[in-house]
Amino acid sequence: MSEQQQQKVAMVVMAHADDAEFGCAGTAARWAKEGWEVYYVLCTDSSSGGPDDATDVSEEARQRIVATRMQEQRNACAILGVKDVFFLGHRDGELQPTIELRKELVRLYRTYKPTRLICQSPVRTWEPAMSLGAYHPDHMAAGEAALAAVYPASQNPWDFPDLFEKEGLKPHKVKEVFIMSSPKENYISDISSTIELKWEALRAHTSQLGDHFEEIRSWIDSYHATVGKKIGTTHAESFHRTENR
Ligand SMILES: [Zn+2]
Repeated sequence: MSEQQQQKVAMVVMAHADDAEFGCAGTAARWAKEGWEVYYVLCTDSSSGGPDDATDVSEEARQRIVATRMQEQRNACAILGVKDVFFLGHRDGELQPTIELRKELVRLYRTYKPTRLICQSPVRTWEPAMSLGAYHPDHMAAGEAALAAVYPASQNPWDFPDLFEKEGLKPHKVKEVFIMSSPKENYISDISSTIELKWEALRAHTSQLGDHFEEIRSWIDSYHATVGKKIGTTHAESFHRTENR
């Protein structure tokens, strides 16, 4: 096994603040406990996450939301043991899997050299039945960009040659990818030791969950308990896991 393969570095690429807390925070916290350096990347500025009954949707109002949601995400990361969080700042609700976004992600992969990556699914599935909310278009765009940045761009010196020539960022191969809400989940991750951290981190997104926290916790709890039963544990998260050979 090469030196690169042994690095205990993981990166979590998501569209919005709180996406990771819903889908993979138990796993991220467990990896952190196991000695992995975990980094979060948020592709958007999360600025469309204001109240559904908002009457002020001005730029000023959006910017206040951005500041709040960045702080809430930092608070959640501190609870989980996530080492750092990077905000790429694309406009919420308008994310596209552009070459620009792919390059930003390649820059991060080559800089921090993750062995593992967690991202969102770039495709919808209705089997098993998933909510529309799992497939916000930003989630699919973030997933597509995250995967395109893994292969081939991050590991190919001919992709974005200026990252190598001007920034000294050598190609890096991400070895394992874990995809949330994917059509074919094949990997169950035991989060029984970190479920309380997950709840605490989810609760940190006060502006999003607020008064609904207990209600939301209850349905996520029963979902994770159902998945956990499959491997004989109290709570688990599920992914499609694939190796980049
Ligand atoms: Zn989201």
